[in-house]
Amino acid sequence: MKASKMIIATLKEAPNEAQISSHILLIRAGMIRKLVAGVYNYLPIGLRTLYKVEKIIREEMDEAGGQEILSSAIQPKELWVESGRWQKYGPELIRFKDRHEREFCLGPTHEEIFTDLVRNEIKSRKSLPLNIYQIQTKYRDELRPRFGLMRSREFIMKDAYSFDLDESGLDVSYHNMYETYKRIFDRFGLNYKIVLADTGAIGGSGSHQFMAISEIGESDIAYCDCGYAADEEKATSLINEYKTTEDELPLEKVHTPDQKTIEEVSSFVKLTPKDIVKSIVYKDLAHNELVMVLVRGDRDVNEIKVVNALDIAEYELVLASYDDILSIGSVEGFVSPIGLNVKTLVDDEVAIMKNFVVGGNESNYHFINANFKRDFTGQVIEVRKVALGDRCPICGKPLKMEKGIEVGQIFKLGTKYSKPMNCVYQDENGELKPIVMGCYGIGVTRTMSSIIEQYHDEHGICWPLNVAPYHVVIVPINYNDETMRTKATELYEKFKTAGVEVVLDDRDERPGFKFKDWELIGIPYIITVGRLAGDNIVEFKERKTMIKKEKSLDEAYETVVDAVRNCR
Ligand code: ATP
Ligand code: MG
Repeated sequence: MKASKMIIATLKEAPNEAQISSHILLIRAGMIRKLVAGVYNYLPIGLRTLYKVEKIIREEMDEAGGQEILSSAIQPKELWVESGRWQKYGPELIRFKDRHEREFCLGPTHEEIFTDLVRNEIKSRKSLPLNIYQIQTKYRDELRPRFGLMRSREFIMKDAYSFDLDESGLDVSYHNMYETYKRIFDRFGLNYKIVLADTGAIGGSGSHQFMAISEIGESDIAYCDCGYAADEEKATSLINEYKTTEDELPLEKVHTPDQKTIEEVSSFVKLTPKDIVKSIVYKDLAHNELVMVLVRGDRDVNEIKVVNALDIAEYELVLASYDDILSIGSVEGFVSPIGLNVKTLVDDEVAIMKNFVVGGNESNYHFINANFKRDFTGQVIEVRKVALGDRCPICGKPLKMEKGIEVGQIFKLGTKYSKPMNCVYQDENGELKPIVMGCYGIGVTRTMSSIIEQYHDEHGICWPLNVAPYHVVIVPINYNDETMRTKATELYEKFKTAGVEVVLDDRDERPGFKFKDWELIGIPYIITVGRLAGDNIVEFKERKTMIKKEKSLDEAYETVVDAVRNCR
């Protein structure tokens, strides 16, 4: 492609709302443009990379035995009612009616559609196992779309679904996808971790997430040298025993004027936050009831564990209001379960702790020497968030923490969709059995951003060769100089013949201006045709290292052709 004919929409600055490198660089490199919050247009150079990301995913999915289909983003309400998710999915689901008042949604994921497809099309158990996938646009009305393609309201996902006769078949299909995902993310050159995950709104019995390691990641990963790794939502830790061996002392109510926060209370009673127990009141919107959750003062609540214990959806758990707390006979800042009749979840660390401080359920008062069982009851579960240094649930060594971007997630669905939707097969005895399913997602556009997060420098993006929008750019210092123009054009034609994706920068601009564009866009090789062109010598720059070398035209050509041939 000749640069003079391309839409090169590079910018010096990105808008203020772009805070992370990938968002800033996608905009600055002229790869995407925002339409409205969380919705983007892909410009030609951006689209080329997007297609390459898709191609790698497609190749590996096909290699793994997947069959590609393409379904609509529009999904009828009836299927979601059948699966029970029309209610449960909540406000992220974009719903609408047609002119006949029939209801639909824009698919945030496609379990219902694929289950429906298989129940209609698959007549014999001999067709199983089956893996069907698509690369398609998804819609989620995210509460806070941000970070460009990382968390958008319209995004591209590769979603695959497996269909097996039984659980052991599912194990094989799941393992197949697990290994396929490793190959995919390896090909992108991503530094990632595979972690145990919660199943969230998709459901099912087991799940892993693939996390691209990054400071700007929205997921916290707890991991250990022994191999344990889990998303913060799913992570557990061994109990950190604290004050478990003391004798129980008599409960006392003490005056703590204006001491509300954990820090205030602990310094007032001359103890540490660890000696206080926090009582946090939530409202369970599904059951319209208040729930108190107790964790040690130095801990945070893992709200996903609360959601799972209550068997509700994430959006159905909200913090209780000031008035809610008054309604159960307590007061904000001084809440505790002592003397209240409210559903209570007690972290297992708190359950074995002796003589702690909790709220007095009265303004300016706290209880000291509180003890579980003697002074109040509740359901004991692990409900705290893991923290750095907590003990690994497998080996007991201190856990480490890291931030990651969830680029993919795989789920063992079991019969969660096939049962209610009657997706069945006839076994050898003529008995109808539900098909056992798995589902497997990759955020295609989020992966593209994650690659940038891991491959950029102060000059711009450093695309790995296999996803770069073009392999190489030829920059003649002066396109009006006949020798330079001729040599550059010959090389350009030669690359094209060899199947190398090449740009010839024939624009009437200063060389420095051109280099800035290509370095920002991140073309892996930049060949400058300058004053030594007549001697068949060019300057060859590798974008990743920014190292420049003089090479003969042939050598420059061979280097690029070899690299392209060897890249998958
Ligand atoms: P998150 O926890 O980040 O909201 P999720 O767990 O809800 O994601 P899944 O339902 O597992 O997402 O979807 C499969 C993949 O789609 C995710 O692993 C992620 O890479 C991608 N994805 C999900 N939501 C978005 C979004 N709003 N924008 C871009 N990609 C997304
Ligand atoms: Mg997920």
